[in-house]
Amino acid sequence: NAVINMIRAGEVVERPASVVKELIENSIDANATVVRISLRDGGKSLLVVEDDGDGMDCEDVDKCVDRHATSKFSGGEASSLCTYGFRGEALAAIGAVADLTVQTNQAKSAHGWETVVWFGQKFAPRPCSKVSDSGGTRVAVRSIFRKYPARHRMLRSNGHELSAVIHVVKAAALAAPEVTFIVDTGSATKSFVLRAGKSGDRVQDVLGLDYVKNSASLSLARNGMEISGRVSLPGWSGSKTSQSTVIVNNRPVSVGKSIDNALKQAFNGISKHHRPQVVLNITVPAKEVDVNAHAAKREVRFLFPDAIQSLVTDAINQAVGVVPD
Ligand code: ADP
Ligand code: MG
Repeated sequence: NAVINMIRAGEVVERPASVVKELIENSIDANATVVRISLRDGGKSLLVVEDDGDGMDCEDVDKCVDRHATSKFSGGEASSLCTYGFRGEALAAIGAVADLTVQTNQAKSAHGWETVVWFGQKFAPRPCSKVSDSGGTRVAVRSIFRKYPARHRMLRSNGHELSAVIHVVKAAALAAPEVTFIVDTGSATKSFVLRAGKSGDRVQDVLGLDYVKNSASLSLARNGMEISGRVSLPGWSGSKTSQSTVIVNNRPVSVGKSIDNALKQAFNGISKHHRPQVVLNITVPAKEVDVNAHAAKREVRFLFPDAIQSLVTDAINQAVGVVPD
């Protein structure tokens, strides 16, 4: 149903950055080791995410653009641990508002399969050349919102959309240090590569040596919850320029209230004006976190927000040596 697809699309697809976020998550769910992101005009005219993951067969590629197309186990604990968000909505939502092409092949197949959804109109899969000999998927999104002038007008300048995309890629890269990210923005100066390596190296690659030198690592576990990461040292002024990244059960999420409060509280004794810049990896039992609070914004709701808040506060205080009051 086109109208329903369009409404749902509005929740998942706000701008190129939200598309990139969904596509990168799909690539990582498909066990990609390299994800290549190419953009033109900040992703407005063209946005491609290509991976060397498991790929799909003909039947799967036909279904993957339908609503509720998820192949991911839903319900129960396992699903929320490894996969996030509204299930089976992303590709359908993207296809409703853009010119979408999915090309894919599995390792064993002789050729690939391609399916196209053109502003909600779906075409039957047809053979195409392989994306990768070891299996892989290439998703190309062209002319996002072109048929929806009101939505198109909500997009900002190419530069602004590009920075939002880069922010999403960097958060994903911090959450998945074992994956290599290659970003081609169409401009040599803004394109970059993040090679897979140890987690510590990834933080330095994404946030810079200056951040690493001016931050402390943190680590704390209790009541089945675990936190690790880095926090900038009190008074470090570099923290004004960049944002914090919070990763819950391996997925970047937006900094919700309980974590934001914890950050405020942790630095309260030292400086009223400095908000620490953090990279937080939080692991909680799947049933203690609701990731479906909002489709696009990725706000999480914790079953025990106070426990999370004090875990974050204590971990930060430990790391920067502040005595909690
Ligand atoms: P969800 O990720 O919630 O399952 P999506 O609409 O994002 O929903 O994707 C639908 C389905 O398409 C996935 O469940 C998966 O089976 C398949 N798929 C999407 N992207 C990829 C990819 N990069 N590699 C392999 N399979 C993919
Ligand atoms: Mg998905």
